[in-house]
Amino acid sequence: MEAAASLDGMTPRGAGRFAPSPSGELHVGNLRTALLAWLFARSTGRRFLMRVEDLDRARAGAEEVQLRDLAAIGLDWDGEVVRQTERGALYDDAIGRLTDAGLTYECYCTRREIQEAPSAPHAPQGAYPGTCRDLTEDQRARRRAERPAAVRLRAEVTEWAVTDVLHGRYAGLVDDFVLRRNDGVVAYNLAVVVDDAAQGIDQVVRGDDLLSSAPRQAYLAGLLAAQVPEYAHVPLVLNPAGRRLAKRDGAVTLGALAAAGVSAEQVTGLLLASVGLPASLPEALAAFTPHALPRDPWVLAPGELTSRR
Ligand SMILES: [Zn+2]
Repeated sequence: MEAAASLDGMTPRGAGRFAPSPSGELHVGNLRTALLAWLFARSTGRRFLMRVEDLDRARAGAEEVQLRDLAAIGLDWDGEVVRQTERGALYDDAIGRLTDAGLTYECYCTRREIQEAPSAPHAPQGAYPGTCRDLTEDQRARRRAERPAAVRLRAEVTEWAVTDVLHGRYAGLVDDFVLRRNDGVVAYNLAVVVDDAAQGIDQVVRGDDLLSSAPRQAYLAGLLAAQVPEYAHVPLVLNPAGRRLAKRDGAVTLGALAAAGVSAEQVTGLLLASVGLPASLPEALAAFTPHALPRDPWVLAPGELTSRR
């Protein structure tokens, strides 16, 4: 759809992206990941796209504030902002293609049934136990009357490997993961893969809490005949207790930091400094080298951002 045209056999220009969930204000951990995604894309001549992942937990007004904050720290993006809630036909089409190829089945399990089911032989820890994989038509009809079905992928592997710019080769679990939940909402893994393919995204930079999702997504991309993007899973910002940064960790949003006298420009400088880059965005872009990025999380003490200005 937005695939860049190639002239005279030149390599088409790919794209990177940032894909926030509009569930509230972005905190400095989210903003740092967005900055890195922008640096990865712009330093490699890629377009940078903005996609709002609003299928779930969207809060009214949050998208507007998030986009404003991303612009305030100096990021720009190409084309229109894309929203997942406007892309249902693309997801339906992908699930339809997988179903036509015999690669889906209905699942009627509750969360509790999955937890309590005996694991299938050889099934890796944490994998869906396959309860509904081989039901007869009669069994399906009976269970379908009890509760709405989710749609699962009929995976033909249990593990898949991806290559990550920062982590190298990473192999991880692929199970019969959910494509569409039983409330009808498209699952994250399916939406991400379909959107990245449709938008011509060939570079995915995001927090390393999502590294374990990459094998499932890369495997699914292959089933949908989509290009597997280059991955870079970047370290998160943690609080001193080692947990992912959250609003309760003090002044960690642009709004709260502004109230404490720290400007958006200063936040940009602090975030760039935290990855060893010069404090101005143009200088950071010129100096950016993915392999020089820190591999460890940035542990942020309460008040650290407001005391270092
Ligand atoms: Zn099931």
